[in-house]
Amino acid sequence: MLATVASTLTHLECSSCKKTHPHDRLQNLCTCGKPLLARYDLKAAAKTLTRAALAGRPGNMWRYAEVLPGNPPVSLGEGMTPLLHARRAGAAVGLENLYVKDEGLNPTGSFKARGLSAAVTQAKAYGAKALGIPTAGNSGGALAAYAAQAGIPCVIVMPADTPVANVMECRAFGADVRKIDGLISDCGKYVAEHKDREGWFDVSTLKEPYRIEGKKTMGYELWEQFEGKLPDVIIYPTGGGVGLIGMCKAFDEMEAMGWIGSGRPRMVSVQAAGCAPIVRAFVTERDTAEFWEHAETIASGLRVPKALGDFIILAYLRATRGTAVAATDQEMLAAGRELAALEGIYAAPEGAATLVAARKLVAARWIRPGETVVLFNTGTGYKYSEAWQRALDAGG
Ligand SMILES: *Cc1c(COP(=O)(O)O)cnc(C)c1O
Repeated sequence: MLATVASTLTHLECSSCKKTHPHDRLQNLCTCGKPLLARYDLKAAAKTLTRAALAGRPGNMWRYAEVLPGNPPVSLGEGMTPLLHARRAGAAVGLENLYVKDEGLNPTGSFKARGLSAAVTQAKAYGAKALGIPTAGNSGGALAAYAAQAGIPCVIVMPADTPVANVMECRAFGADVRKIDGLISDCGKYVAEHKDREGWFDVSTLKEPYRIEGKKTMGYELWEQFEGKLPDVIIYPTGGGVGLIGMCKAFDEMEAMGWIGSGRPRMVSVQAAGCAPIVRAFVTERDTAEFWEHAETIASGLRVPKALGDFIILAYLRATRGTAVAATDQEMLAAGRELAALEGIYAAPEGAATLVAARKLVAARWIRPGETVVLFNTGTGYKYSEAWQRALDAGG
């Protein structure tokens, strides 16, 4: 049982200035203003975290207990989502070994569950009285659910035009929902201005260290599901970039534990053509991204005009010989219909964007036909009725 396995978390370290911080209390950013990363005693972790040991553990993300925080999990069964061999969609884009990691099957229908499970676990353990978050939709729903399970009040700040399902779930979970006439960046400002006065612990993307820890488990799962190997290419719909950073962090930890060598999957960020700050920065060879003016896309999770971790995302894209690609809303809607009709996967537009990127990269011969490619469907299509209505109307 899990109780016999100990977390090897030792401290937090700044992603930029490398200053260390204790982990046994509530923590937001480093004093230098950059995100903190959790660090473990990986030598100790490697002794008990083995494929054989994992075989007997629960089918959720907390199975990787050695490399997660050690407090009693606030859990709804997140993680260990299916890795599906998408043969027909693969044939449609010219790939034999195309896989979809279907994160839409997580609690609250998106991979945000992983990050918020870890963040709420820590916030509860260290006494947060209330939680606040700016959200494009899915992170709000996930926070509201985990806060409800933890018995901690939360405030969700979202753009007024967030998909209806996201607003409803937050209200159902009992959250205080505040709608802002603006983008997630405006919601972030609102949280920053109100959190101290109203006593919320800020669980914004990358402003606390544990959402990355939850999302990194996607990297561990890939390794387990590919039976001790990693794919050649991972295509990830990038907003704040937490999942991409998390998976790359997981691969670094695996190398330190001797599970893998220095090779890495080539990481691909796909963004919406109407909000593509990382693509623009990658193409123009910048180390950071500039704020994207007038961001607009049906893929609400990708409507992030400026990511706090942009410098980390860009560094990982280059270090893994990856790339960045944009997809238009039209392309996403069409690809969503393809994934649904060919594979039975009802994807979020963000997830559909990964199929658009795969097709473009195969056509450009950046991906070779025999390579193993994983698409991340980061959310369920059931929360995007407005987008799906448009997709179906367009397709007749
Ligand atoms: C939040 C979200 C994203 C972007 O995730 P990041 O890890 O912040 O880049 C992508 N897809 C969906 C469905 C999301 O909810």
